[in-house]
Amino acid sequence: MNALDITGLNGWLAAQGSGGRIAVKQVVVEEDLFGRLPALLAWQKAAERPVVVVMDHTPMRRGRADAKGEFLRIIGEAGRAQVVRVGTAGEPAHAELAIAEDLARQLPAGCQVISFGSGTVTDLAKHARFLADQNRPESERRTFVCIPTACTVTAFSSALAVLGVAGVKRTIPSQNPDYTWVDLGMLAEAPSPLTRAGVGDLLTRGVAYADWYLSSLLGIDESYSDVPRRLLADHEARLPAMAVALGRGERGAFRTLMEALLLAGYAMSVVGQTTPISGWEHVMSHYLDLCNGARHKPLNLHGLQVAAGTFVATRAYNDFVGGATAAELVAAADVDLGERAGAQIGKHFAAVDPGGEIRAELLRDYLPKAERWRDAATRLRRLAGDWSSGRVQKELAERLMPLERMDAIAIAMDLPRSLREMESLPCPAGAAETVRYCHLVRQRFTLGDLLSALGWLGTRRVDRWLGAD
Ligand SMILES: [Zn+2]
Repeated sequence: MNALDITGLNGWLAAQGSGGRIAVKQVVVEEDLFGRLPALLAWQKAAERPVVVVMDHTPMRRGRADAKGEFLRIIGEAGRAQVVRVGTAGEPAHAELAIAEDLARQLPAGCQVISFGSGTVTDLAKHARFLADQNRPESERRTFVCIPTACTVTAFSSALAVLGVAGVKRTIPSQNPDYTWVDLGMLAEAPSPLTRAGVGDLLTRGVAYADWYLSSLLGIDESYSDVPRRLLADHEARLPAMAVALGRGERGAFRTLMEALLLAGYAMSVVGQTTPISGWEHVMSHYLDLCNGARHKPLNLHGLQVAAGTFVATRAYNDFVGGATAAELVAAADVDLGERAGAQIGKHFAAVDPGGEIRAELLRDYLPKAERWRDAATRLRRLAGDWSSGRVQKELAERLMPLERMDAIAIAMDLPRSLREMESLPCPAGAAETVRYCHLVRQRFTLGDLLSALGWLGTRRVDRWLGAD
């Protein structure tokens, strides 16, 4: 799969019977994008319309030059650009809906919006453009060009934005960039934790697909499709070799990594949701962001959190697939998850939410999932009846990334293989608490919810999934 050949990819999607299409118009990947920028900007008619550049205050190098200064000089020669800097020099911007709303008010009709940054800047600019264009006539619509400065996330091609709403991280339907322009030189010079985080975010497919399939087996999420999985299969097989090449600092590997991130962004966008690459491991990450944030602790890089979560979730899946019994599944079908969640949310989050607002929001968000779980009881009993055939276990195992492949990637990229390795945890028992309680913070059904119903989130098992200290 060639991430740059959008026409070819859309043809492939049509042949797969997929209703979704990739709406990004063009991706340009250059060793020296800056050399080609004047031509690209002229082609975009940058001199004839307002241009708004969105960036943060983080200094960035490109060769011996200041990347942002150089970029703004080229933009300045192409036309008159307004520069909006999010965050401050001391406090980097957070991806918050309120900031995107404020930004949307600063985008003139018909302008070209250019984001120059990594995930946060991209999601803020992306969603600001989406909001500004709501209910506007065609003639007033903005164009959005995304220039990634590090291989961190899948935001550079996706039609979804991850933003904080009322203190809780949410994935919101948004609009994909029209154009993504990539400078490989800049990506290769980005701080290495950012590149590691990008690889970490790609690992998550290895667990997310099993979660989505599990959810579809129970009738909780009927939207399951194998198309995104097939779209990513090629690149996934190349991840171990790519990780080794990245570890050696090979320039070409940055192209492979960016292409894999772009494909992952398409994979979500064609089904209009993050499920193909966001399962229980992402729920763990959301929980950590919520609790670290509430305790005013620093947030870990998203990609490193989800990488660690993928290992924990895969170990749990292997135990579940190999060890759960039909009798346990039948007993789980009678568990009222809504009642259990009400008691757990009330107690567990009291320390980080004395006022109760976060807990009320969490419960409001959880209850529809508990409702769907109740409706799934018949399907779960039926699944238990078929459990001895091993069919379901095999289907779930096929959708997991083998631990050996994950290990090879993690070793090459120095990725964490347990939540205990996270630099910032809300409290000393934070890693275990994440596994035990994270399913309470997100509406998506994953293995975590089923394990809660099975009574499998006790200390002994959770400690084993977290691995030895
Ligand atoms: Zn992610």
